[in-house]
Amino acid sequence: MNKDILKNLGLSKIKKDGFYPSVLIAKDYIYSKGNKKSVFSPINNERTASFRELKAHYIDETLDKLHKSFKQWRKVPAPKRALLISEIKTQAIKNKKDLAYLITLESGKIYEEALGEVQEFIDICDFAIGLSRQLYGLSITSERYKHKIIEQWYPLGTISIISAFNFPMAVWAWNAMLALVCGNTILWKPSNQAPLCALACFLLVQKALKKFKDYPQDIFAVIIASRKASKNILKNKKSSLISATGSVAMGKKIAPIIAKRLGKSLFELGGNNALIVCKSADLDLALKAVVFSAIGTAGQRCTSLRRLFVHKSIKKVFQEKLIAAYKSLNIGNPFEEKNIMGPLINKKSYENMQEALHLIKKQKGEIIYGGERILQKEETNSYYVKPALVKINHKALIVQNETFAPILYLMDFENIKEAIEMNNEVNQGLSSSIFTNDLKEAELFTSIFGSDCGLANVNVGTSGAEIGAAFGGEKDTGGGRESGSDAWKNYMRRLSSSINYGNETILSQGINFS
Ligand code: NAD
Repeated sequence: MNKDILKNLGLSKIKKDGFYPSVLIAKDYIYSKGNKKSVFSPINNERTASFRELKAHYIDETLDKLHKSFKQWRKVPAPKRALLISEIKTQAIKNKKDLAYLITLESGKIYEEALGEVQEFIDICDFAIGLSRQLYGLSITSERYKHKIIEQWYPLGTISIISAFNFPMAVWAWNAMLALVCGNTILWKPSNQAPLCALACFLLVQKALKKFKDYPQDIFAVIIASRKASKNILKNKKSSLISATGSVAMGKKIAPIIAKRLGKSLFELGGNNALIVCKSADLDLALKAVVFSAIGTAGQRCTSLRRLFVHKSIKKVFQEKLIAAYKSLNIGNPFEEKNIMGPLINKKSYENMQEALHLIKKQKGEIIYGGERILQKEETNSYYVKPALVKINHKALIVQNETFAPILYLMDFENIKEAIEMNNEVNQGLSSSIFTNDLKEAELFTSIFGSDCGLANVNVGTSGAEIGAAFGGEKDTGGGRESGSDAWKNYMRRLSSSINYGNETILSQGINFS
């Protein structure tokens, strides 16, 4: 581990007796007293951090504090809140390489992708700054004489963010920068696989806040908590919105707990993304997109390509190109520039992949390339694998679920209608793509008769979304939208007002009540 980077980011300073704090809000750090929990890097299984398990009541106390500071923060006009975000952006740019180092260390994604993730953080800061002068509502014509209707947007409260290991910074930033500019306070429970990224972002925000002495300093808290303790985030009414990113299984577990108190939620859950390569497609373009989408972050992106549908007439040639491309991939330490793919996150993930490969064979699939572990020179409990290419029927049970590992299912189709049907037949609905030079096929795919996902791209792969668009998926993916477009509305409450500037009482719907 690079101690200089930990020092630069201020992490060494907050370590006490070998432990990091489990709760951070303003200058208050809580080093709880529970059992020891350690975190290990997927790169070489080196211990990266240790914490003590948190008692759930600390979560309620932190939410109380955030709720109190919300009442101060919402008074700051949005363009003035943006000044803070501008400073956060400056800090993110200044520390880009160090932040990317932590992302690679904790998630195992290659450093180049980690730099891209910090860039997303920077980009969403820009977006939020611009938004600060555009949090506008509507003026609506009224059916009544000398009446008008207006719609306004106000801050919501405290936004509780639960994030996954595979985007340990960007997903927080998407949520947090919008939530902040909209006037909310934030509680962040990161993945227990990637706590250092969260601590570093916390310290970065506190550094930025120091420049604004008259702003409340306790608008953002990080808690490192077990799933059990995290229940308090879900149950507490002071979590005005729970924005949760993770697996469909996680969403199904936590949704009823939030729903029980009629709380608001925003879900960004698992995908099972497909890409269609049509007869007319530019195959070189398609090949690059397929490979990046399938093996980027070692197949551990929510938008990773899982299902590939290739037109019957080109399936042989495309398969050959794909195998050749897979054979040429360098896999290994994600900090080394030559490597294009790093490790799986942990042993469990490797076991899940092997179990999936076993089920593939049982379900009459054929592994035509990869799947096996690549042992390192020094044996270290790290899990590097060759990405797998599998021929299988699209109806096979295993194809219906997301295996969070680099397994790509190859299937063929005869006509576009059939390909779109296969694209839509799974429960998840995050990302999808079509590669075609046929205008009608492209238009059909993005039409009401096309992909039923949240994202449907043309001649662009399934992963690597820009922050300008609203990001999210339909069906079991949860229906949430984050990041660009009007996703900011999720972090605000809408107020509709009817205003009478005349001298008569006029009831709507023409009701006469005299
Ligand atoms: P995960 O579901 O195991 O965990 C995600 C987060 O939820 C973690 O912080 C975890 O601690 C927390 N969590 C899990 N169960 C919980 C519970 N019962 N109560 C409270 N918190 C709980 O997912 P992961 O392995 O970290 O990430 C991979 C998954 O996330 C994949 O399914 C991937 O598709 C999905 N993902 C989706 C998006 C998206 O935008 N749609 C983005 C990234 C990842």
